[in-house]
Amino acid sequence: MDSNKLLVLIINDMVIFPNNEVRLEYDNNYDYQMIEIVNKINDDYMLLVNPIDDSANIDITSLPNYGVLGRLKLKINVPNGKTRIVIEGLQRVELQNYISDGKLYRANYKEIIIPPTKEDEKYANVLIKALERYIDKVPYMGNAIMNQIDGIDNLSDLCDLIASFLNIDYPHKKKYITTISPLERAKDLIKDMNEELKFVELEQKIESEVEKELNKTQKEYFLREKIKIMQQELGEVNSKDDEVIKLKKKCAKLKCSNRVKEKINHEIARYEAINSNSPELGMIRDYLDWMLNLPWNTYTKDTEDLSKVKSILDSSHYALEDVKERILEYLAVKQNTNSLRSPILCLVGPPGVGKTSLAISIAKSLNRKVAKISVGGINDEAEIIGHRRTYIGANPGRIIQGIRKAQTANPVFIIDEIDKMTKDIKGDPASSLLEVLDPEQNNKFSDHYIEEEFDLSQVLFIATANYIEQIPYELKDRLEIINLSSYTEYEKLDIAKRHLIPKELEEHGLTPLQVQIDDDCIMSIIRNYTKEAGVRELERVIATVFRKIVKKILLEKDCTFYNITYENLEEFLGKKKYLYLDNQIEEEVGVVNGMAYTVFGGDILKIEATLYKGKGELILTGSLGEVMQESCQIALSYIKANLEEFNINREVLVNNDIHIHFPEGAVNKDGPSAGITITTALISLFTNKKISSSISMTGEITLRGRVLPIGGLKEKVIGAHRAGIKKIFLPQDNEKDLIEITEDVKKDIEFIFVTNYSEIYQQIFN
Ligand code: ADP
Repeated sequence: MDSNKLLVLIINDMVIFPNNEVRLEYDNNYDYQMIEIVNKINDDYMLLVNPIDDSANIDITSLPNYGVLGRLKLKINVPNGKTRIVIEGLQRVELQNYISDGKLYRANYKEIIIPPTKEDEKYANVLIKALERYIDKVPYMGNAIMNQIDGIDNLSDLCDLIASFLNIDYPHKKKYITTISPLERAKDLIKDMNEELKFVELEQKIESEVEKELNKTQKEYFLREKIKIMQQELGEVNSKDDEVIKLKKKCAKLKCSNRVKEKINHEIARYEAINSNSPELGMIRDYLDWMLNLPWNTYTKDTEDLSKVKSILDSSHYALEDVKERILEYLAVKQNTNSLRSPILCLVGPPGVGKTSLAISIAKSLNRKVAKISVGGINDEAEIIGHRRTYIGANPGRIIQGIRKAQTANPVFIIDEIDKMTKDIKGDPASSLLEVLDPEQNNKFSDHYIEEEFDLSQVLFIATANYIEQIPYELKDRLEIINLSSYTEYEKLDIAKRHLIPKELEEHGLTPLQVQIDDDCIMSIIRNYTKEAGVRELERVIATVFRKIVKKILLEKDCTFYNITYENLEEFLGKKKYLYLDNQIEEEVGVVNGMAYTVFGGDILKIEATLYKGKGELILTGSLGEVMQESCQIALSYIKANLEEFNINREVLVNNDIHIHFPEGAVNKDGPSAGITITTALISLFTNKKISSSISMTGEITLRGRVLPIGGLKEKVIGAHRAGIKKIFLPQDNEKDLIEITEDVKKDIEFIFVTNYSEIYQQIFN
């Protein structure tokens, strides 16, 4: 059949691929080409051809060199003057020698034979994979084709089947008929599918984003509506408008100055005007919250009855006469003059001696509220005076925060740990605090966040600190320092009996009829279960005892009375933690008791010296500060300069290295008070004479042997007493301080005051 000319069916809008069937319908009155061809068709075969250029008029030149041999498979007349046919594509053919009778075209055709190559097989696989991916990703593609390609091993047929199936536009599809090489077609198909995939993915992405956005807004809308309905049900209509009305009402009631009111109203107006979605909304709301809740011009009235104040202070705190006195003076003068700047008190002393609790009692006795902040560790002045409002997450400083909590403008304001502030690049909190405390300025205190002035002049500031030396000097200048020192054990006994035990009994729901605790027992708690300058630990231990009693009463119902004695104390508290007088009297060479001032109040600090063959080097250990290291060198030089007087053989010093150690090596030690102790330890070492452990001493030494005074005498003596020391050497200049020591301590100790080291030498070594 290849040499016979066949009729050409020119198709303009679709492509019929080999191995593909197409159903068509045409109108018997109009579709001239179809009518003629179908009528004249020879052996049912024809040539299916798509013109090269669809827009041009059809002539021989516009017809391509390749087309498809087709067959008319079926022809049925259907109603309405139409005919339905089915045309089947058979194979791709080369077309030659077109002729036309003016209406229809005919042409010769030639079979195209392309032998399969190895590459075909590879590409067939790649093509199938690409198709699978394509079907998987493109939502509108069914997978029926997968059944059809099953078993097709010819790349050309595979390409034709896939091309007929794909959703490709007509000009593109046409190209797949005229491209003869199956390899080329396969590559083109893969490319087309990938492009379509990209497009589909982009489409899906856009769709999902649109959907997400829609979902979010719908969800938010839905939730908002729900909240509104719930609020209405609860009678809490909370729209911004209602809130603004509430804010305005609250502002009208404030006792602040007109200027502050204006500022608040201005902010309320801004709040009202601002869009509900603006991030600034929350910031303005927070600011309003602060402004409307500060105790502007709100004061409590001080108790005027001085005796009442005194009795409240006495009932809450034992001793501490200086502070109580100072408070009474303040009140007296205030009543007398009717205007008085508050003093700024600073209570200095070791932990647990009652600084904070006394300040709270002062507030109670005056009928004032309490504000309490700690400035320990603060290194940023914004902590004191606030951040500017432009700063993200801005807040007022701690002063304003304390005032707000106290809800009055004249509270007793406790500032704890004033000695533990630090200074760095963020500013100097001490100087900001100075502004707060300075009576000249603090009636116009301006916090950076609040922006408006707040009057702090009626506040009674009470600062607390552990070490007076560490209070920033500019602050120290403004403060009325009141020292609270360690309690002796007899004072602790009194405090326990009069204050701590009654207080703890009450807190544990016990009565004195249920529990008896004798003095020996309290003393044993003080000596064997606590080691501190104050009474905080003591209070805790007493609470532990009472807690156990409450438990026993509830469990063993028959027992209603408990007598706690020295003998049965261990039942409640376990083994003794500190053995009082554990400093059993012994004698040693090169070991001497020094005296230190620590957080526990005073304590004894042993100094050890030893020597061994060497070249006269001095080795120091025990975490010593510079001053202590120098003390060691001075002591050694002083001894070297007076070898004969002390009966020391020079050889000992030349042929040995000397090592001085301060035990509890990890604890930092510094301060000018160990000179005479080091000297004594060294002389003992060099002369091989033993020193009794019942002796202790404290005092700095000069190169000439002069003994200089020391600080913290009371603490040190109490600590030495606790350790069972019987004899203490002290600088002559400290004799006046002995007045601070109670008789019950003094009676157990022999004090020897010296001005020069030779006096100590006489006493110990001669
Ligand atoms: P500080 O502030 O000095 O560290 P606290 O004020 O917290 O010490 O006191 C610790 C506990 O000791 C408080 O319960 C306090 O009541 C009690 N306390 C301290 N000193 C006395 C005292 N002189 N009289 C009565 N109780 C005291």
